[in-house]
Amino acid sequence: MSKELAVQAAGKNFATAQAGAFAELTQYEYVHASAKGKGFPGKLFLQKVLGLTSMEVSLNNLPAGKAMPFSHRHHDHEELYIFVSGKGQFQIDGQMIEVREGTVIRIAPEGSRIWRNHSTEDLCYVVIQATANSLRVNGVEDGEMMREDVVWPDPQHA
Ligand code: ZN
Repeated sequence: MSKELAVQAAGKNFATAQAGAFAELTQYEYVHASAKGKGFPGKLFLQKVLGLTSMEVSLNNLPAGKAMPFSHRHHDHEELYIFVSGKGQFQIDGQMIEVREGTVIRIAPEGSRIWRNHSTEDLCYVVIQATANSLRVNGVEDGEMMREDVVWPDPQHA
């Protein structure tokens, strides 16, 4: 039975949840509508839980020896894969890329992608997807410095 991620706290301008360690992500199972009940353990989507409005994000753990069962591509979404631990191999349009902690990959919607974990440890990664060509300004230009005073609790009592 798949564990469900719940919102821990939410306010007017935020929502937060605690998904746990990447090593334990296999407690979560994603079942795609077209997969006839066959689930993917270790894939946790965040969009619905957090109410994200501009992107879909998943936290992933592909255990040792496992491979994605099929290639996929997207209609509108560009994807960014951020590898946080482990080692694996990725193919985009048949081109092989070795991945490990720190590898980041952007893939255009039409790119055919598949990956595997041929190592002996978990392959952990984050996938962010958003509509291709939708960015209007870069993040640095969109940010604005706030002038308000910030108070942090005393570390002894946090
Ligand atoms: Zn995808």
